[in-house]
Amino acid sequence: MNVLVLNCGSSSAKFAVINPVSGQEAVSGIAQRLGSKHASLDWKRNGSKESRPIPGAHHEEALRAVVALLHELGLADDLVGIGHRVVHGGSKFSGSMKITPEVVAMVEACIPLGPLHNPPNLLGIKVAQELFPTMLQVGVFDTAFHQTMPPVAYTYPVPHEWLEAHGVRRYGFHGTSHRFVARHALTLTGLPADDHAIVTAHLGNGCSCTAVRNGRSVDTTMGLTPLEGVMMGTRSGSVDPAIIGHVSTALKRSAQDVLDVLNKKSGLLGVSGLSNDMRTVEEAAAAGNARASLALDIFCYVLAKAIAGLVVPLGRLDALAFTGGIGENSVTVRARTVELLGFLGLTLDPALNAVHGRGQHGRITTGMRPQALVVPTNEELMIAMDTADIAQSAS
Ligand code: ADP
Repeated sequence: MNVLVLNCGSSSAKFAVINPVSGQEAVSGIAQRLGSKHASLDWKRNGSKESRPIPGAHHEEALRAVVALLHELGLADDLVGIGHRVVHGGSKFSGSMKITPEVVAMVEACIPLGPLHNPPNLLGIKVAQELFPTMLQVGVFDTAFHQTMPPVAYTYPVPHEWLEAHGVRRYGFHGTSHRFVARHALTLTGLPADDHAIVTAHLGNGCSCTAVRNGRSVDTTMGLTPLEGVMMGTRSGSVDPAIIGHVSTALKRSAQDVLDVLNKKSGLLGVSGLSNDMRTVEEAAAAGNARASLALDIFCYVLAKAIAGLVVPLGRLDALAFTGGIGENSVTVRARTVELLGFLGLTLDPALNAVHGRGQHGRITTGMRPQALVVPTNEELMIAMDTADIAQSAS
């Protein structure tokens, strides 16, 4: 019993065939550089990597190539469903949903909120429906986990009509990862399912933190879009919105241009002037590069402030879970962030911090409560599990 997980972005389509019970991946891969003559289908199976050129392929041809590959590998016949990652579900989805024409229309209605992501997500759904007309298709939304936030957490202090007429509110993202990691942290810590206060820190190219009280998101750092919150690889995170007016006047550029810079040329890249990649920034900082050092300092400082801020809705902190490429691998970022949060009762265990991550999970502080820990995320598995749950309840 397997689930095909699809994540269609603007120029790529990631896929994986996963057993939702064992978590085992039969194959995973990516069709990338879509629309260009260098488009390729790359996949990993049983630890070995292969690649096939699909020159000029767009999403439709790429997904056909994926399906042909699944047939070749004998993986197309025991699928129980297809799980699609959908980025923006607005306020319309508070959980994963079987895809019906009504659900497609609701995802279409969320396009103004997720103009870059929802159209390729919808395209993936449409093509998968054509290729597998009788198969269960499920939408798993990045925003859904955060629909439990109370109005005090999701309402911006702006004219209320903006919320009512234009949906201006905090939605939050990375929900599939925060949900998976909070669940796994609960198992690792042995905290009671009906009484826990966890902050999950998803630190990848995009970064966000979520306050999870008894399995429910009660607040999160990303907002209307994934630009808000902590510092990221190329995104600034929260800044004074008046910067947009100021810089657009100073540089004689449109507000949209400045917003593009805040999304694509800020964060670690903007401050260091070197790279959006934490490994490069850490190496340069260690070699004495002052701007890389400053970028790393700001990253950890802003992150620690955000985590501390999320203790307000929780009322206390039982566990802080690090995940994502940086959270799982950067010994430095974890150490510095935990040290900045010492006043909450977290004390780093440097030996545990050095061994955890790199595929291992577990506690990196000396105390049991509160404790900080590393929890590898697996959004694809969460999507596969949701799809299998819906398949089971439908049968
Ligand atoms: P995405 O959000 O695109 O899925 P990832 O979760 O893979 O990205 O995270 C990418 C980030 O993880 C990059 O900034 C990368 O430098 C960082 N990273 C990966 N390995 C390490 C490492 N060993 N030390 C520090 N940072 C790392």
